[in-house]
Amino acid sequence: MDKKICRRCLLDDLDFDEYMQSLKDYIKTVPPDARVSDEVYSERLDICRSCEELANAMCRQCGCYVELRALKQKTHCPIDKWGPTL
Ligand code: SF4
Repeated sequence: MDKKICRRCLLDDLDFDEYMQSLKDYIKTVPPDARVSDEVYSERLDICRSCEELANAMCRQCGCYVELRALKQKTHCPIDKWGPTL
């Protein structure tokens, strides 16, 4: 049976590993027509990896998990480091 996601939990209430796994599982469910190409995704993540705003997989500028933000077509880097979407 699938485990239900609690939408009212705070970080202290969560199992960190479980939370990270649920984030990875969510990323897999983003529909193909909402994703950038694998090449663009990889380029964006490379830029994030070398960015001083990356902290614990999150962007300090916007508060997003970069692996999710970088995946979506309609998102952008808050300080325009990614350049235009291909
Ligand atoms: S989204 Fe932009 S500002 Fe945030 S970590 Fe990535 S490159 Fe840096």
